[in-house]
Amino acid sequence: MNEMYVKHLQGMVQIPTVSNADDSKMDFGQFEKFHQYLEEIFPAIHSTMEKKVIGKAGLLYKWKGKDSDKLPVLLMGHQDVVPEGDHDKWKYPPYSGEVAEGCIWGRGTTDCKCVILAEMETVEALIKEGFQPDYDIYLAYGYNEEVQAPVKSAKEIVNYLKEQGVRLGCVFDEGSGITDGRVMGYDGYVCQVELGEKAYHDYEIYKDDAGGHSMEPGQGTALGSVSRAVVALEANPFPYRLTDIVENQLKAMSQCMTGEKAAVYADPKGHWEELCAMAKEDKKLDSLLHTTCAVTMASGSQQSNILPEHASMIMNCRVLQGDTEESLLAHFRSVIPEDVQVRKVLGEDPEPASSVDGRPYKLIAEIAKANYGEDTLVIPGLLAGGTDSRFFPVICDNVFRHTGFFRDARWGAAHQVNEKIPCDALESAMKFYRELLLRY
Ligand SMILES: [Zn+2]
Repeated sequence: MNEMYVKHLQGMVQIPTVSNADDSKMDFGQFEKFHQYLEEIFPAIHSTMEKKVIGKAGLLYKWKGKDSDKLPVLLMGHQDVVPEGDHDKWKYPPYSGEVAEGCIWGRGTTDCKCVILAEMETVEALIKEGFQPDYDIYLAYGYNEEVQAPVKSAKEIVNYLKEQGVRLGCVFDEGSGITDGRVMGYDGYVCQVELGEKAYHDYEIYKDDAGGHSMEPGQGTALGSVSRAVVALEANPFPYRLTDIVENQLKAMSQCMTGEKAAVYADPKGHWEELCAMAKEDKKLDSLLHTTCAVTMASGSQQSNILPEHASMIMNCRVLQGDTEESLLAHFRSVIPEDVQVRKVLGEDPEPASSVDGRPYKLIAEIAKANYGEDTLVIPGLLAGGTDSRFFPVICDNVFRHTGFFRDARWGAAHQVNEKIPCDALESAMKFYRELLLRY
Protein backbone atom coordinates (compact mmCIF):
# COMPACT_ATOMS: atom_id res chain seq x y z
CA MET A 1 0.00 0.00 0.00
CA ASN A 2 1.37 3.40 -0.98
CA GLU A 3 0.86 5.95 1.83
CA MET A 4 1.18 8.91 -0.53
CA TYR A 5 -1.72 7.80 -2.73
CA VAL A 6 -3.91 7.33 0.33
CA LYS A 7 -3.02 10.79 1.62
CA HIS A 8 -3.72 12.41 -1.73
CA LEU A 9 -7.14 10.78 -2.04
CA GLN A 10 -7.96 11.80 1.53
CA GLY A 11 -7.14 15.40 0.66
CA MET A 12 -9.37 15.29 -2.42
CA VAL A 13 -12.30 13.84 -0.47
CA GLN A 14 -11.96 16.48 2.23
CA ILE A 15 -12.97 19.15 -0.32
CA PRO A 16 -16.77 18.83 -0.78
CA THR A 17 -17.19 19.50 -4.52
CA VAL A 18 -20.95 18.96 -4.56
CA SER A 19 -22.74 19.78 -7.81
CA ASN A 20 -26.24 21.12 -8.43
CA ALA A 21 -28.27 21.36 -11.65
CA ASP A 22 -28.49 25.08 -10.89
CA ASP A 23 -24.99 26.63 -11.06
CA SER A 24 -26.05 29.48 -8.77
CA LYS A 25 -26.57 26.94 -5.97
CA MET A 26 -23.04 25.56 -6.31
CA ASP A 27 -20.12 26.60 -4.14
CA PHE A 28 -17.43 27.17 -6.78
CA GLY A 29 -15.02 28.16 -3.99
CA GLN A 30 -14.71 24.45 -3.22
CA PHE A 31 -13.76 23.72 -6.82
CA GLU A 32 -11.12 26.45 -6.67
CA LYS A 33 -9.77 24.81 -3.54
CA PHE A 34 -9.79 21.48 -5.33
CA HIS A 35 -7.81 22.94 -8.25
CA GLN A 36 -5.27 24.42 -5.84
CA TYR A 37 -4.93 21.10 -4.09
CA LEU A 38 -4.22 19.33 -7.39
CA GLU A 39 -1.58 21.95 -8.11
CA GLU A 40 0.03 21.24 -4.76
CA ILE A 41 0.17 17.46 -5.04
CA PHE A 42 0.96 17.19 -8.76
CA PRO A 43 3.80 19.68 -9.34
CA ALA A 44 5.22 17.91 -12.41
CA ILE A 45 1.85 17.94 -14.19
CA HIS A 46 1.42 21.63 -13.46
CA SER A 47 4.87 22.55 -14.71
CA THR A 48 4.77 20.35 -17.82
CA MET A 49 1.18 20.24 -19.01
CA GLU A 50 -0.79 23.14 -20.36
CA LYS A 51 -3.79 23.71 -18.06
CA LYS A 52 -7.02 25.36 -19.10
CA VAL A 53 -10.08 26.08 -17.00
CA ILE A 54 -13.09 25.59 -19.28
CA GLY A 55 -16.29 27.37 -18.31
CA LYS A 56 -16.81 27.84 -14.57
CA ALA A 57 -14.64 25.00 -13.27
CA GLY A 58 -13.94 22.42 -15.97
CA LEU A 59 -10.31 21.28 -16.13
CA LEU A 60 -8.37 20.35 -19.24
CA TYR A 61 -4.67 19.49 -19.24
CA LYS A 62 -2.55 18.83 -22.30
CA TRP A 63 0.84 17.14 -22.46
CA LYS A 64 2.25 17.87 -25.89
CA GLY A 65 3.90 14.77 -27.34
CA LYS A 66 6.71 14.43 -29.84
CA ASP A 67 5.37 14.85 -33.36
CA SER A 68 3.87 11.69 -34.75
CA ASP A 69 0.70 10.76 -36.55
CA LYS A 70 -0.80 8.98 -33.51
CA LEU A 71 -4.06 10.50 -32.32
CA PRO A 72 -4.11 11.80 -28.72
CA VAL A 73 -5.28 9.85 -25.65
CA LEU A 74 -7.70 11.50 -23.23
CA LEU A 75 -8.20 10.28 -19.65
CA MET A 76 -11.18 11.71 -17.83
CA GLY A 77 -13.45 11.67 -14.80
CA HIS A 78 -15.55 14.23 -12.94
CA GLN A 79 -14.70 16.50 -10.04
CA ASP A 80 -18.18 16.75 -8.59
CA VAL A 81 -19.89 14.49 -6.08
CA VAL A 82 -23.52 13.92 -5.10
CA PRO A 83 -24.72 15.31 -1.73
CA GLU A 84 -23.69 13.24 1.26
CA GLY A 85 -27.20 12.52 2.58
CA ASP A 86 -27.86 11.85 6.24
CA HIS A 87 -24.66 12.49 8.24
CA ASP A 88 -25.88 10.27 11.09
CA LYS A 89 -25.98 7.25 8.83
CA TRP A 90 -22.30 7.52 7.93
CA LYS A 91 -19.96 5.37 10.01
CA TYR A 92 -17.27 8.06 9.56
CA PRO A 93 -18.05 11.69 8.61
CA PRO A 94 -18.59 11.96 4.82
CA TYR A 95 -15.85 14.52 4.15
CA SER A 96 -13.32 13.27 6.68
CA GLY A 97 -11.46 10.98 4.30
CA GLU A 98 -11.07 8.72 7.33
CA VAL A 99 -8.77 5.73 6.89
CA ALA A 100 -10.27 2.83 8.80
CA GLU A 101 -10.76 -0.90 8.32
CA GLY A 102 -8.36 -0.86 5.38
CA CYS A 103 -10.43 1.66 3.44
CA ILE A 104 -10.64 5.38 2.75
CA TRP A 105 -14.17 6.55 3.59
CA GLY A 106 -16.11 9.46 2.22
CA ARG A 107 -18.26 10.98 -0.49
CA GLY A 108 -16.42 10.80 -3.80
CA THR A 109 -13.92 8.09 -2.88
CA THR A 110 -15.29 5.67 -5.50
CA ASP A 111 -17.34 8.11 -7.63
CA CYS A 112 -15.00 9.22 -8.86
CA LYS A 113 -12.09 11.00 -7.19
CA CYS A 114 -10.24 7.69 -7.17
CA VAL A 115 -10.24 7.87 -10.98
CA ILE A 116 -8.80 11.40 -11.02
CA LEU A 117 -6.20 10.27 -8.48
CA ALA A 118 -5.12 7.22 -10.48
CA GLU A 119 -4.94 9.07 -13.79
CA MET A 120 -3.02 12.03 -12.40
CA GLU A 121 -0.61 9.95 -10.26
CA THR A 122 0.20 7.91 -13.35
CA VAL A 123 0.92 10.94 -15.52
CA GLU A 124 2.81 12.69 -12.71
CA ALA A 125 5.06 9.65 -12.29
CA LEU A 126 5.68 9.30 -16.03
CA ILE A 127 6.70 12.96 -16.32
CA LYS A 128 9.09 12.57 -13.39
CA GLU A 129 10.63 9.47 -14.98
CA GLY A 130 11.34 11.43 -18.14
CA PHE A 131 8.86 9.54 -20.32
CA GLN A 132 8.24 11.36 -23.59
CA PRO A 133 5.06 10.32 -25.35
CA ASP A 134 5.00 10.43 -29.14
CA TYR A 135 1.35 11.49 -28.96
CA ASP A 136 -0.57 14.13 -27.00
CA ILE A 137 -2.08 13.21 -23.64
CA TYR A 138 -5.10 15.04 -22.26
CA LEU A 139 -6.71 14.95 -18.82
CA ALA A 140 -10.29 16.24 -18.62
CA TYR A 141 -12.47 16.75 -15.55
CA GLY A 142 -15.93 18.30 -15.72
CA TYR A 143 -17.69 19.73 -12.71
CA ASN A 144 -21.34 18.65 -13.08
CA GLU A 145 -21.52 15.04 -14.23
CA GLU A 146 -23.92 14.09 -11.45
CA VAL A 147 -26.73 16.50 -12.38
CA GLN A 148 -28.97 17.26 -15.36
CA ALA A 149 -27.63 20.78 -15.84
CA PRO A 150 -28.49 23.01 -18.83
CA VAL A 151 -24.77 23.56 -19.47
CA LYS A 152 -22.76 20.36 -19.11
CA SER A 153 -19.13 20.94 -18.27
CA ALA A 154 -17.93 17.88 -20.22
CA LYS A 155 -19.76 19.13 -23.29
CA GLU A 156 -18.01 22.50 -22.97
CA ILE A 157 -14.69 20.65 -22.90
CA VAL A 158 -15.63 18.67 -26.02
CA ASN A 159 -16.74 21.86 -27.79
CA TYR A 160 -13.42 23.49 -26.96
CA LEU A 161 -11.43 20.53 -28.32
CA LYS A 162 -13.58 20.49 -31.43
CA GLU A 163 -12.93 24.17 -32.03
CA GLN A 164 -9.22 23.44 -31.76
CA GLY A 165 -9.62 20.81 -34.46
CA VAL A 166 -8.65 18.00 -32.06
CA ARG A 167 -9.58 14.44 -32.95
CA LEU A 168 -8.88 11.85 -30.22
CA GLY A 169 -7.57 8.29 -30.59
CA CYS A 170 -9.27 7.03 -27.45
CA VAL A 171 -11.05 8.23 -24.32
CA PHE A 172 -11.16 6.48 -20.95
CA ASP A 173 -13.76 7.46 -18.35
CA GLU A 174 -15.16 6.05 -15.11
CA GLY A 175 -16.87 2.68 -15.46
CA SER A 176 -16.05 -0.95 -14.84
CA GLY A 177 -12.74 -2.55 -14.03
CA ILE A 178 -11.45 -5.94 -13.00
CA THR A 179 -13.20 -8.40 -10.70
CA ASP A 180 -12.56 -11.89 -9.43
CA GLY A 181 -14.65 -13.98 -11.82
CA ARG A 182 -15.55 -16.52 -9.16
CA VAL A 183 -18.28 -14.21 -7.84
CA MET A 184 -19.85 -14.39 -11.32
CA GLY A 185 -19.24 -18.07 -11.89
CA TYR A 186 -16.04 -17.78 -13.96
CA ASP A 187 -12.80 -19.42 -12.89
CA GLY A 188 -10.41 -16.50 -13.48
CA TYR A 189 -10.47 -12.73 -13.56
CA VAL A 190 -13.08 -10.72 -15.44
CA CYS A 191 -12.37 -7.41 -17.18
CA GLN A 192 -15.45 -5.37 -18.07
CA VAL A 193 -15.41 -2.53 -20.58
CA GLU A 194 -18.45 -0.44 -21.40
CA LEU A 195 -18.51 0.66 -25.03
CA GLY A 196 -21.58 2.84 -24.84
CA GLU A 197 -24.48 3.90 -22.71
CA LYS A 198 -28.20 4.38 -23.05
CA ALA A 199 -29.49 7.94 -23.34
CA TYR A 200 -31.54 9.59 -20.58
CA HIS A 201 -34.85 11.14 -21.63
CA ASP A 202 -37.78 12.54 -19.66
CA TYR A 203 -41.26 12.84 -21.16
CA GLU A 204 -44.35 14.51 -19.76
CA ILE A 205 -47.72 12.89 -20.39
CA TYR A 206 -50.36 15.50 -19.66
CA LYS A 207 -53.85 16.84 -20.15
CA ASP A 208 -55.09 20.40 -19.74
CA ASP A 209 -58.67 20.85 -18.59
CA ALA A 210 -61.07 23.56 -17.43
CA GLY A 211 -60.88 22.32 -13.83
CA GLY A 212 -63.74 23.15 -11.49
CA HIS A 213 -65.38 21.78 -8.35
CA SER A 214 -64.92 18.11 -7.55
CA MET A 215 -68.63 17.68 -6.73
CA GLU A 216 -69.33 17.77 -10.49
CA PRO A 217 -66.62 15.73 -12.15
CA GLY A 218 -68.81 14.61 -15.06
CA GLN A 219 -67.28 11.63 -16.86
CA GLY A 220 -63.90 11.78 -15.07
CA THR A 221 -60.92 14.06 -14.50
CA ALA A 222 -57.81 14.99 -16.47
CA LEU A 223 -55.77 12.90 -14.05
CA GLY A 224 -57.95 9.90 -14.87
CA SER A 225 -57.26 10.42 -18.60
CA VAL A 226 -53.51 10.68 -18.01
CA SER A 227 -53.67 7.52 -15.89
CA ARG A 228 -55.36 5.62 -18.74
CA ALA A 229 -52.57 6.79 -21.04
CA VAL A 230 -49.97 5.48 -18.61
CA VAL A 231 -51.73 2.13 -18.33
CA ALA A 232 -51.65 1.90 -22.15
CA LEU A 233 -47.95 2.80 -22.23
CA GLU A 234 -47.04 0.15 -19.66
CA ALA A 235 -49.04 -2.43 -21.60
CA ASN A 236 -47.14 -1.59 -24.80
CA PRO A 237 -43.42 -1.56 -24.06
CA PHE A 238 -40.87 -1.15 -26.83
CA PRO A 239 -40.27 -4.54 -28.45
CA TYR A 240 -37.07 -6.39 -27.61
CA ARG A 241 -34.26 -6.20 -30.15
CA LEU A 242 -30.60 -7.15 -30.19
CA THR A 243 -27.93 -4.51 -30.83
CA ASP A 244 -24.39 -5.61 -31.84
CA ILE A 245 -22.92 -4.40 -28.58
CA VAL A 246 -25.43 -6.35 -26.47
CA GLU A 247 -24.98 -9.46 -28.60
CA ASN A 248 -21.23 -9.34 -27.89
CA GLN A 249 -21.91 -8.72 -24.21
CA LEU A 250 -24.26 -11.70 -23.85
CA LYS A 251 -21.88 -14.00 -25.73
CA ALA A 252 -18.99 -13.06 -23.43
CA MET A 253 -21.20 -13.41 -20.34
CA SER A 254 -22.17 -16.93 -21.40
CA GLN A 255 -18.71 -18.03 -20.30
CA CYS A 256 -19.69 -17.27 -16.70
CA MET A 257 -22.79 -19.47 -16.96
CA THR A 258 -23.75 -23.10 -17.15
CA GLY A 259 -26.61 -25.14 -18.59
CA GLU A 260 -29.59 -23.74 -20.46
CA LYS A 261 -28.76 -20.09 -19.65
CA ALA A 262 -25.22 -20.46 -21.05
CA ALA A 263 -26.59 -21.91 -24.30
CA VAL A 264 -29.07 -19.05 -24.72
CA TYR A 265 -26.51 -16.32 -24.00
CA ALA A 266 -23.89 -17.94 -26.25
CA ASP A 267 -26.20 -17.70 -29.25
CA PRO A 268 -28.82 -15.05 -28.52
CA LYS A 269 -30.12 -14.91 -32.10
CA GLY A 270 -30.52 -18.68 -32.27
CA HIS A 271 -32.42 -18.69 -28.95
CA TRP A 272 -34.36 -15.46 -29.39
CA GLU A 273 -37.67 -16.71 -27.96
CA GLU A 274 -36.02 -18.14 -24.84
CA LEU A 275 -33.98 -14.97 -24.37
CA CYS A 276 -37.09 -12.78 -24.49
CA ALA A 277 -38.80 -15.04 -21.95
CA MET A 278 -35.76 -14.75 -19.66
CA ALA A 279 -35.74 -10.95 -20.02
CA LYS A 280 -39.31 -10.72 -18.71
CA GLU A 281 -38.05 -12.23 -15.44
CA ASP A 282 -34.72 -10.40 -15.32
CA LYS A 283 -34.70 -6.58 -15.00
CA LYS A 284 -31.07 -6.23 -15.98
CA LEU A 285 -31.41 -8.31 -19.14
CA ASP A 286 -34.66 -6.51 -19.93
CA SER A 287 -32.87 -3.15 -19.82
CA LEU A 288 -30.30 -4.35 -22.38
CA LEU A 289 -32.86 -5.41 -24.95
CA HIS A 290 -35.00 -2.31 -25.39
CA THR A 291 -35.69 1.31 -24.53
CA THR A 292 -37.23 1.27 -21.07
CA CYS A 293 -39.93 3.64 -19.80
CA ALA A 294 -40.54 4.20 -16.09
CA VAL A 295 -43.36 6.46 -14.92
CA THR A 296 -41.89 8.06 -11.82
CA MET A 297 -43.80 11.24 -10.94
CA ALA A 298 -47.44 12.35 -11.00
CA SER A 299 -49.32 15.55 -10.24
CA GLY A 300 -52.93 16.75 -10.26
CA SER A 301 -54.58 19.65 -8.45
CA GLN A 302 -53.50 21.35 -5.22
CA GLN A 303 -56.38 20.11 -3.11
CA SER A 304 -58.67 17.09 -2.98
CA ASN A 305 -61.85 19.04 -3.83
CA ILE A 306 -60.43 20.83 -6.90
CA LEU A 307 -60.44 19.24 -10.35
CA PRO A 308 -56.96 19.36 -11.92
CA GLU A 309 -56.47 21.97 -14.65
CA HIS A 310 -53.19 20.36 -15.60
CA ALA A 311 -52.74 16.67 -14.85
CA SER A 312 -49.31 15.29 -15.57
CA MET A 313 -47.05 12.29 -15.19
CA ILE A 314 -43.33 12.14 -15.87
CA MET A 315 -41.80 9.13 -17.56
CA ASN A 316 -38.06 8.54 -17.47
CA CYS A 317 -36.83 6.60 -20.51
CA ARG A 318 -33.45 4.97 -21.07
CA VAL A 319 -33.01 4.97 -24.82
CA LEU A 320 -31.24 2.14 -26.60
CA GLN A 321 -29.03 2.78 -29.64
CA GLY A 322 -31.29 2.84 -32.68
CA ASP A 323 -34.14 4.74 -31.02
CA THR A 324 -34.50 8.52 -31.15
CA GLU A 325 -36.76 11.22 -29.72
CA GLU A 326 -38.76 10.94 -32.95
CA SER A 327 -39.25 7.18 -32.74
CA LEU A 328 -40.20 7.42 -29.06
CA LEU A 329 -42.80 10.15 -29.61
CA ALA A 330 -44.25 8.25 -32.57
CA HIS A 331 -44.61 5.13 -30.41
CA PHE A 332 -46.16 7.01 -27.48
CA ARG A 333 -48.67 8.80 -29.71
CA SER A 334 -49.71 5.55 -31.35
CA VAL A 335 -50.50 4.06 -27.94
CA ILE A 336 -52.07 6.81 -25.80
CA PRO A 337 -55.67 8.07 -26.20
CA GLU A 338 -56.06 11.17 -28.39
CA ASP A 339 -57.17 13.50 -25.60
CA VAL A 340 -53.81 13.15 -23.82
CA GLN A 341 -50.61 14.93 -24.91
CA VAL A 342 -46.98 13.93 -24.67
CA ARG A 343 -43.84 16.07 -24.92
CA LYS A 344 -40.15 15.57 -24.37
CA VAL A 345 -38.82 17.41 -21.31
CA LEU A 346 -35.12 16.70 -21.76
CA GLY A 347 -32.55 14.35 -23.26
CA GLU A 348 -30.40 13.87 -26.33
CA ASP A 349 -30.43 10.90 -28.68
CA PRO A 350 -28.04 8.05 -27.78
CA GLU A 351 -24.50 8.20 -29.11
CA PRO A 352 -23.19 5.30 -31.16
CA ALA A 353 -21.27 2.69 -29.17
CA SER A 354 -17.54 2.18 -29.73
CA SER A 355 -16.17 -0.77 -31.62
CA VAL A 356 -14.31 -3.81 -30.35
CA ASP A 357 -12.28 -3.97 -33.58
CA GLY A 358 -9.94 -1.02 -33.05
CA ARG A 359 -6.47 -1.09 -31.54
CA PRO A 360 -7.49 0.72 -28.29
CA TYR A 361 -10.02 -1.97 -27.31
CA LYS A 362 -7.51 -4.71 -28.08
CA LEU A 363 -5.03 -2.87 -25.87
CA ILE A 364 -7.41 -3.06 -22.88
CA ALA A 365 -7.70 -6.82 -23.33
CA GLU A 366 -3.93 -7.16 -23.79
CA ILE A 367 -3.18 -5.23 -20.58
CA ALA A 368 -5.81 -7.11 -18.54
CA LYS A 369 -4.33 -10.44 -19.64
CA ALA A 370 -0.78 -9.25 -18.92
CA ASN A 371 -1.77 -8.09 -15.42
CA TYR A 372 -4.24 -10.83 -14.44
CA GLY A 373 -3.45 -13.85 -16.57
CA GLU A 374 -4.14 -15.12 -20.08
CA ASP A 375 -7.46 -16.65 -19.03
CA THR A 376 -8.88 -13.24 -18.05
CA LEU A 377 -12.33 -12.92 -19.57
CA VAL A 378 -12.99 -9.59 -21.29
CA ILE A 379 -16.66 -8.59 -21.41
CA PRO A 380 -17.64 -5.62 -23.58
CA GLY A 381 -20.98 -4.09 -22.73
CA LEU A 382 -23.49 -1.33 -22.40
CA LEU A 383 -23.58 0.88 -19.31
CA ALA A 384 -26.96 1.21 -17.61
CA GLY A 385 -26.16 4.59 -16.06
CA GLY A 386 -24.71 7.70 -17.66
CA THR A 387 -21.23 9.20 -17.78
CA ASP A 388 -19.67 12.38 -19.14
CA SER A 389 -17.92 10.33 -21.82
CA ARG A 390 -21.15 10.26 -23.85
CA PHE A 391 -20.24 13.71 -25.23
CA PHE A 392 -17.00 12.47 -26.79
CA PRO A 393 -18.07 10.31 -29.77
CA VAL A 394 -18.22 13.45 -31.97
CA ILE A 395 -14.43 13.71 -31.69
CA CYS A 396 -13.48 10.09 -30.97
CA ASP A 397 -14.40 6.61 -32.26
CA ASN A 398 -13.04 4.75 -29.22
CA VAL A 399 -14.75 5.90 -26.04
CA PHE A 400 -14.46 3.44 -23.17
CA ARG A 401 -15.75 3.32 -19.64
CA HIS A 402 -13.01 1.35 -17.95
CA THR A 403 -10.58 2.24 -15.17
CA GLY A 404 -8.58 -0.89 -14.47
CA PHE A 405 -9.60 -0.70 -10.80
CA PHE A 406 -9.77 -4.08 -9.09
CA ARG A 407 -13.18 -4.15 -7.39
CA ASP A 408 -14.37 -6.45 -4.66
CA ALA A 409 -16.97 -6.61 -1.90
CA ARG A 410 -15.05 -4.15 0.28
CA TRP A 411 -15.99 -1.23 -2.00
CA GLY A 412 -18.80 0.97 -0.68
CA ALA A 413 -21.57 1.80 -3.13
CA ALA A 414 -21.55 5.09 -5.01
CA HIS A 415 -24.29 7.62 -4.17
CA GLN A 416 -25.01 5.88 -0.84
CA VAL A 417 -23.78 6.47 2.68
CA ASN A 418 -20.52 4.79 3.66
CA GLU A 419 -18.96 5.17 0.22
CA LYS A 420 -15.44 3.77 0.58
CA ILE A 421 -12.53 2.32 -1.34
CA PRO A 422 -9.91 -0.16 -0.12
CA CYS A 423 -6.49 1.51 0.20
CA ASP A 424 -4.84 -1.41 -1.56
CA ALA A 425 -7.06 -0.98 -4.64
CA LEU A 426 -5.64 2.40 -5.65
CA GLU A 427 -2.59 1.05 -7.44
CA SER A 428 -4.57 -1.40 -9.58
CA ALA A 429 -5.89 1.43 -11.76
CA MET A 430 -2.49 3.14 -11.95
CA LYS A 431 -1.05 -0.11 -13.24
CA PHE A 432 -3.62 -0.06 -16.03
CA TYR A 433 -3.18 3.61 -17.03
CA ARG A 434 0.59 3.25 -16.97
CA GLU A 435 0.54 0.27 -19.34
CA LEU A 436 -1.99 2.02 -21.54
CA LEU A 437 0.16 5.12 -21.96
CA LEU A 438 3.38 3.12 -22.43
CA ARG A 439 1.93 0.65 -24.96
CA TYR A 440 -0.31 3.04 -26.90
ZN1 LIG B 1 -19.41 9.21 -11.45
